[in-house]
Amino acid sequence: TVENKKLGIALIGLGGYAGGQLAPALQKTKNCYLAGIVTGTPSKEATWSQQYNIPQKNIYNYGNFDEIAKNKDIDIVYIVLPVSMHKEFTIRGAKAGKHVICEKPMALNAADCQLMIDACKKADRMLSIGYRLHFEPYNMEMMRLGQKQVFGKVQTIEAENGFVYGGDPNAWRLKKALSGGGALMDMGVYAIQGARYVTGEEPLYVTARQEKTKPELFKDVDETIFWKLEFPSGAVSNGKSSYNNNWGRLEAKAQNGKFWLEPAYAYGGQAGGTSKGEFNFPHIVQQAAQMDDFAQCVLNKKQTRVPGEEGMKDMKVVDAIYRSLQSGKREKI
Ligand code: NDP
Repeated sequence: TVENKKLGIALIGLGGYAGGQLAPALQKTKNCYLAGIVTGTPSKEATWSQQYNIPQKNIYNYGNFDEIAKNKDIDIVYIVLPVSMHKEFTIRGAKAGKHVICEKPMALNAADCQLMIDACKKADRMLSIGYRLHFEPYNMEMMRLGQKQVFGKVQTIEAENGFVYGGDPNAWRLKKALSGGGALMDMGVYAIQGARYVTGEEPLYVTARQEKTKPELFKDVDETIFWKLEFPSGAVSNGKSSYNNNWGRLEAKAQNGKFWLEPAYAYGGQAGGTSKGEFNFPHIVQQAAQMDDFAQCVLNKKQTRVPGEEGMKDMKVVDAIYRSLQSGKREKI
């Protein structure tokens, strides 16, 4: 039956997130499994194939990737590459007849997101973005409380996400051509998402400013950005992203009370509550829930709750934040 079928996933790009989170999560999934890998580093082929029992015929590199079209073991490709490569591999994956999960941020800009959506539509393949928090019980409660107006209309949202970057100064994350930008692209998308899924609305305007305390490290990308989003209902979200502050909060004030999470966006350990008391939900493996849900969507031909369109909405906001930094003015999203 459809319920018992396990779809094969191939991870593309075997870096920190693929190795540290997605491959372990794929040992816990029910509707999909780690069937293949795509890597540009030959030494990873042997270690991954041994550790995860991946046959040679399911191993590809970026050059021969398109041959995956002939491989019946692979139903879904999961793109875990630097942002600048997301568009190319989404389009190549769809053309190869595979359904696609693409990591956040979806692409370098919203225009590229549209091309990715179009390519998947044309190939009749499903596209989803790696927004794991849509499957995480604490964040799902924030969505419910805000969207159902359990405490009345949401008036303000504080959403901040960041960490103190201590990694390689030459990493792709700090090169604009590969990342599209700094902490806003990497961490800020979660704060933008948070404001969007608490209100259930699309913001109309944004005003942004930035701060740089380590210009030698962040010479090519943004370090800390502060922004204000204005929503159609009148709700306002004050957002922050940073590579120089350990932040991870999402808080909403509504007419009759407030609700919050901290940490909000981490892989686990979510905590928070409302003016009435603490949250107490199960802690789950977010990535396993996310990938199982997508596999079920593919199997049952059901729309995913995190489609490409969802990634593009965030990138429209990101594009407008960068425009506002340039113009120094309030920008229409
Ligand atoms: P890493 O740098 O750890 O890994 C990226 C991998 O991409 C590399 O290991 C390499 O794999 C491959 N690659 C191909 N070309 C390049 C290149 N020119 N420079 C660097 N790497 C290259 O990044 P992450 O795993 O942290 O991030 C990958 C994606 O996942 C990003 O989009 C990021 O935003 C997203 N992410 C999402 C998270 C979430 O919670 N949803 C958390 C962390 C990251 P190989 O050697 O196999 O070719």
